[in-house]
Amino acid sequence: MSYTKKVLTEAKAVIDLNVRRYYWQDATDYEKDLKSAAADLMDFLRDHRSRDGYSIDIETTYEELCIYCHRTGEDDDETGEPLCCRKAMERWQADEYCKLAMHKEGLDHA
Ligand SMILES: [Zn+2]
Repeated sequence: MSYTKKVLTEAKAVIDLNVRRYYWQDATDYEKDLKSAAADLMDFLRDHRSRDGYSIDIETTYEELCIYCHRTGEDDDETGEPLCCRKAMERWQADEYCKLAMHKEGLDHA
C-alpha cells in the first residue's frame, strides 16, 4: 500500500527472569514463581549479588500506518481502497488512475 509506511509505534524494556513454566503449572501458579524471581532480582539490584540468566530486551512494535493521518491503514477488502482518510483515498485513486493509464499504454504498444 503506497499510502502507508512502517513506523515504530511502541517500545518497552522486558526483563527475562529465566523462570521456567512447568507443564503442570497454571498461570496463577506461574505468576507466583515470576513474582518470587522478581523479588530476587530486586534483592540482587540492592546487594549486587551474582545472578545468571537475567537479560533485558527492548521489545518493539511496528505498524503500517497511513502517512497522512497516522492511523492504521485499513482498506476495503475487495478494492484495496483506503478507508482511513480523504487524503489516502485521493492518493489511492491517483495511483489506480496511473496503473490504468500505464496498462492502457501497454496495450496500445502491443
Ligand atoms: Zn489516512
